[in-house]
Amino acid sequence: MKYLDEYRDGDAARRIARAIASITARPWTLMEICGGQTHSIVRFGIDELLPPEITLVHGPGCPVCVTPLELIEKAILLASRPDVTFCSFGDMLRVPGRDRDLLAVKAAGGDVRIVYSPLDAVKIAVENPDRQVVFFAVGFETTAPANAMAVYQAHRQGLSNFSMLVSHVTVPPAIEAILSSPDNQVQGFLAAGHVCAIMGYTEYEPIAKKYAVPIVVTGFEPVDLLQGIYRCVRQLEEGRCEVENAYGRSVTRPGNVTAQRVMREVFEVTDRKCRGIGEIPQSGLGLRGQYAVYDAEVRFGLSDVSLDEPSECISGIILQGLKKPFDCPAFGTACTPEHPLGATMVSSEGACAAYYRYRSPHHVQSVA
Ligand code: SF4
Repeated sequence: MKYLDEYRDGDAARRIARAIASITARPWTLMEICGGQTHSIVRFGIDELLPPEITLVHGPGCPVCVTPLELIEKAILLASRPDVTFCSFGDMLRVPGRDRDLLAVKAAGGDVRIVYSPLDAVKIAVENPDRQVVFFAVGFETTAPANAMAVYQAHRQGLSNFSMLVSHVTVPPAIEAILSSPDNQVQGFLAAGHVCAIMGYTEYEPIAKKYAVPIVVTGFEPVDLLQGIYRCVRQLEEGRCEVENAYGRSVTRPGNVTAQRVMREVFEVTDRKCRGIGEIPQSGLGLRGQYAVYDAEVRFGLSDVSLDEPSECISGIILQGLKKPFDCPAFGTACTPEHPLGATMVSSEGACAAYYRYRSPHHVQSVA
């Protein structure tokens, strides 16, 4: 299969779903750790094609959803400064901080700009030497290489008016945090294909062995997802716990070593808070050594900001796979995409937003 349509073929999807049913003898709970996969699962009704023994839960894989509330508030504080031009991907603008979001700062006259690449922010810094330009660097290993390259370029050009507010999280420590929780219910993982395209999948091998869980590298289209689920369930039923690659058209075991080299040049591993899970040791990326001068938190002396999640929001429990969006009393009432209480309702890749959009009474699209 070479083309995208083939991975959305309803007959192929139903065939694999029947194959999954034929090998499933016991109940299993699987987690995907990718907002794109969550979105596809809910949009195409993948979970509804599966036998009732299989439960899919949605992990901390959406970049917007895992960015700590404190970092959102720091972004708002920076964007409110008269000397700062604050650059961000568009989906961060509507994430609520303490009492407003970046869009409100922009509406009040703040210089907040949507960019499509961190290199756009470097360009803005070059063109506006009298402005301090800050880029909001969020996400997993997928966005880290481009962000590392932007800092590298700024350094090469000797830019003193460019910096980054860094909130990078890495996936393997998040998986370990979920697996080592006494409440864990997840028995198998679908690893995110695009993260593995960068990082390969050798990092997952010791985790699969230590916690005795299968981890299957999986793509994003319905057929990709069902193939990943099939291989995960087959391992569970056979009592195996290995790392398998079900996304061979994009992922190799070592990954993209050139991208990894750029990341290692600019970033170092650091402790990082993951929204919904809390502080995870050695789970983030921060600017290393000679690049630390590009750290906006250092440059602007941002002290620790401490914020509590809205008490009614259970997104932290959802991101650990212990509840589903429908279990939240605020879902669809106090919390909607227009008035989100938590990050999982803001981002289009968030589990709550996906359920709101595709599981409403007006939901019509599925692989069928
Ligand atoms: S529906 Fe809203 S309040 Fe409830 S968990 Fe999701 S984001 Fe939080």
